[in-house]
Amino acid sequence: MANKFVFSFSEGNKDQKDLLGGKGANLAEMMRIGIPVPPGFTITTEACKEYLSFGKAPIELEIQITKALRQLEDEMQKRLGDKDDPLLVSVRSGAKFSMPGMMETILNVGLNDESVEGLSRQTGNQRFAWDAYRRLIQMYGKTVLEIEGKIFSDALDSAKVNQGTKLDNELSVDTLKELVKKFKAIILESSGEPFPQDPRKQMDAAVRAVFDSWNTSRAKLYRRRERIADDLGTAVNIGTMVFGNMGDDSGTGVCFTRNPATGEPGAYGDYLQNAQGEDVVSGIRNTLSLEDFGRISPDNFNELKTIMFKLETHYRDICDIEFTVERGKLWILQTRVGKRTASAAFRIAIQLVDEHVITMDEALLRVNGHQLAQLMFPQFDSKKSNKSITVGMAASPGAAVGKAVFDSETATEWAERGEKVVLLRRETNPDDLAGMVAAVGILTSRGGKTSHAAVVARGMGKTAVCGAEQLEVNENEKYARVGDLQINEGDFISIDGTSGEVFAGQNDVEPSTVVKYLTDGIIDATQDRDEGTQDLIRSVDRLLRHADRRRKLKIRANADTENDAAVARKFGAEGIGLCRTEHMFLGDRRVLIEHVILAKTPEQREAALAELLPLQRRDFTDILAQMDGFTTTIRLLDPPLHEFLPDLAELKVKSALALERGEVDQKLEELLHAVEKMHESNPMLGLRGVRLGLVSPGLYELQVRAIAEAMADRISLGANPKVEVMIPLVGSHMELKITRTSAEQVIVDVARERKVELPIEIGTMIELPRAALTANRIAQVADFFSFGTNDLTQTTWGFSRDDVEAEFFAKYLELGVFTISPFETIDQFGVGELVQIAVERGRSVNPNLHLGVCGEHGGDPESIHFFHQVGLDYVSCSPFRVPIARLEAGRAAVS
Ligand code: PEP
Ligand code: MG
Repeated sequence: MANKFVFSFSEGNKDQKDLLGGKGANLAEMMRIGIPVPPGFTITTEACKEYLSFGKAPIELEIQITKALRQLEDEMQKRLGDKDDPLLVSVRSGAKFSMPGMMETILNVGLNDESVEGLSRQTGNQRFAWDAYRRLIQMYGKTVLEIEGKIFSDALDSAKVNQGTKLDNELSVDTLKELVKKFKAIILESSGEPFPQDPRKQMDAAVRAVFDSWNTSRAKLYRRRERIADDLGTAVNIGTMVFGNMGDDSGTGVCFTRNPATGEPGAYGDYLQNAQGEDVVSGIRNTLSLEDFGRISPDNFNELKTIMFKLETHYRDICDIEFTVERGKLWILQTRVGKRTASAAFRIAIQLVDEHVITMDEALLRVNGHQLAQLMFPQFDSKKSNKSITVGMAASPGAAVGKAVFDSETATEWAERGEKVVLLRRETNPDDLAGMVAAVGILTSRGGKTSHAAVVARGMGKTAVCGAEQLEVNENEKYARVGDLQINEGDFISIDGTSGEVFAGQNDVEPSTVVKYLTDGIIDATQDRDEGTQDLIRSVDRLLRHADRRRKLKIRANADTENDAAVARKFGAEGIGLCRTEHMFLGDRRVLIEHVILAKTPEQREAALAELLPLQRRDFTDILAQMDGFTTTIRLLDPPLHEFLPDLAELKVKSALALERGEVDQKLEELLHAVEKMHESNPMLGLRGVRLGLVSPGLYELQVRAIAEAMADRISLGANPKVEVMIPLVGSHMELKITRTSAEQVIVDVARERKVELPIEIGTMIELPRAALTANRIAQVADFFSFGTNDLTQTTWGFSRDDVEAEFFAKYLELGVFTISPFETIDQFGVGELVQIAVERGRSVNPNLHLGVCGEHGGDPESIHFFHQVGLDYVSCSPFRVPIARLEAGRAAVS
C-alpha cells in the first residue's frame, strides 16, 4: 500500500504526535471522545519531511488530499469555495512539540470573488464575508507569497483613516470591498501573479507555505533554544472554518482547566465576544473573564465546563483549550497539555494526586529540577515591580537589584564600601571576574546562554541576564541606553535572571520561600503565608520526600568550608563528595605556601610545612564536625603551585622599576626567578594534581597528616567522622599506587601516635581519558572513583573551558555542533562513554569500588539521569543544587 499521508480527524489519536503533530493528534483524540471539533484532516509530518528533502510533495499526496477533501465536503454538505454556500477551511501548522507563533496559519481558504458573495448571502452578513475575504488575501500574500506584511497593514491603516474609524471591525462593506481590490493589486504587483481564484490552488499553496515555514530562521532559532530536533517536520491541519465574529451570539476564547500561572484550582481563561482568534492574541480589545462568558452565554459556558472536566480527566493533566462559539454553537479548535510555571507545576501535580488522578510516581515526573531551581532563587515581587525596559536571555536565575557600574574596578570598589552593584558590560571576559564576584548581578548586551558571563554567573549562582540586544552599553563613557532611557553609573537597576527582564530603578525582592522551607523546615516556612504559598511549600515537600524514598543515587555536596557543609546538610546532602583544599592555601596563608615553594633546604621546607599543619587540621575538624556520621571526601591539592605565587607580569614590572632606580631587591629577584621557572604555557595540562604531589616532597603528606589528625581529634571527642582521601588527576595506576603507599604510611603513623583506628579510604578522581581506559588497573589500588567530569570533558574534547567557552561556544550552538554546552550537560556519546567504560572496568576487578561524580554535571538534571543509568552510587554537587539532585535522582528512578 502506498504511504498514507493524510488522516481524517476521525482516524488518529493522541499518541500519534510524531506523525500527526501535537495539534493533529489532539484534534483526533477529541473527535474520538466525542468533543465537538470542526471536522477536517491532517497531512502528516512524513509528507512534510519528504517535501523538505526533495523540494516537492510526495506524488500520492495530491490524490490523498482530494479524497479527504471530498469526504469532508460530503460530511459538511458543502463544496470548498462553492459560489452559493462555500466550505471554508483553515490551514494550520502543528509540529510534534508546540512552537507557539513560529510557523504559519492561513484562514478562510476557499473564498474568491464569487464565493464571497455566496457567503454574504448565506450569513446575511456582507460585512463579515468581505472582512473574511480581505483577511484571506492578506494572510495569503504575507505567508504564501512572502510579501512584506507592512504593505498590507499600511493599506488597512489608510483605509481606516479615510473612513475616519479606528477599529478593524468598524470598516464598512464598501471600504472592505475597496480594500480587497487594493490587496489583490498588491499581490499582482509584488508577485507578478493574480490572487488565485481556484480554491484548491489556494489550499495547496497554503499547505506548501506551512511546510516551508518549518525552516524559517525564527523557527530554527526557537528549536535550537528549546532543543527540538530539526528533522521532525510539521504536520498540516485542514479544518472546517468556524467563525466567532458572526454577531453577539458568537465569540472566541482560550481557557486552562487550572490556573497555569499559580496552580490555583479552577478554570481560568479569556473570552472575546464577536471576534476571531487573532483578535484575542493581538490585544486590540480587552478580553472578558470566563465568568463574564458564563453570564453572556450560560449554555455555552456550561458545555465548556463539562468539556474542560472531560479533557482534564482524559489527559490526566491540566489542559489548554481554544474554543469558538459560532451563532450559539460551541466548537473546540485545539487542546494540549498546558504549559505552566514552576510553582503551578508542583501544586498541580499534588492536586492531581489528591484527586486520585495520578500516582505519586507520576507526579514526580510532572515536575523537574529546573523548575525547583527556579523556585529556589529570590524573586521580584510581581505586584510591586516596575515595568521592564528590555528583555534579554534569562542566563542565570534570580533577582538582583543594585547600582549600575560599567567596569570591574568600580564594581569591586563600590562593593567593598558596602554598595550593591549590577555589572553592565557589552560582554565579559576573564578580566572581569573580580567585578563579577563583587556584583549582585550581571547584565550584558551581547552573548547567549553559553557566553562567558552566563557560564561564569551560573557557576557562581549569580543572577545574570545576557544578550539584551536593545541595550546599548558604552563602557568608556559609563552609560547604557534603551531607546530614550539612559542609565548612568550609580543609577539603580533591577534584573530578573529567571525571565530575562531588565528594570530601571529598584524592584522589591522576596526571598525564596522554598529555600526557607529547606533551611528552617515546613512549619516555620508556612507560618503567616498565604494559602497559595503554603500549598506550594507542602507540594514541594511531598514531592521531595517521595523522590528521597525512590532514588537509588545518594546525594553529596561539593563543599570546602564549614558554612557550605552546614548548608549542604540542611538541603539534604548525605556527605561531601568533593572538598577542594586549594582555597585553604589562599589569603593570609599564601605566604606560607610561598615559603614552601621557595625553601632552599629540606629543613626550611619542613619548617614551612609544619606551619601549615595546624591550620589545615582545623579546616578539616570544622568540616568533619558539620558532617558527623556522613562521609567527607577530601581532595588533595590540585592546581599548579605557581597559582599560589604572585603574578609574573607584575613581578617583572616591579623588578624593572627597581633596576631603573639602581636597586636590586634580592627577595624580589628570587621570587621572580621561581615564578619564571614554574611558568607553564598550558597549566591545565601541566604540573598539577597527583603530579604535583609526586614531585613536591612533603606536600601531600602534610595534607594527609592534617586529615588523619583531624579525624583522630574528632574521635577523641566521641564523634563519628568518616573520611576519604581523594587523589586528583591520576592517569596511571602507578601514580596512585605510590601516592597511596605514602598516604597509608602517614595514616598508620598518626593512628599509632594517637592510639586510634583511622579507617580512611583512599581513592581517585577519574578526570583523564587514560584513567577511564585503564580503570581496571587503577581500581586495584583505589577504594573509590569519583568522576571529575569537568576535567574529563576538557581532556576528552581537548579544549580548556576557560579559554574556549566565551570564544566559540555560541557559534557551535548556532551551527548545531552542540545542542548544549558539554560543560553543562554530560556529553553522553563521548565523555559519557568513558564514564561507562571506567565503571565497567573498575567494578570488574574491584566489586566493592564506590562510584560517584563530583564534576558540575553532578547537579545537572539531564546528567543525573545518565549517572543513574550507568549505576553510580552517588552524585555530588554544589549545596544549592542538592535539592535539585534529590528530585532528579528520584525522577530517574521512576522513569
Ligand atoms: C572535575 O574536574 O570535574 C573536578 C571536580 O575537579 P575541578 O573542577 O576542581 O578541576
Ligand atoms: Mg578536576
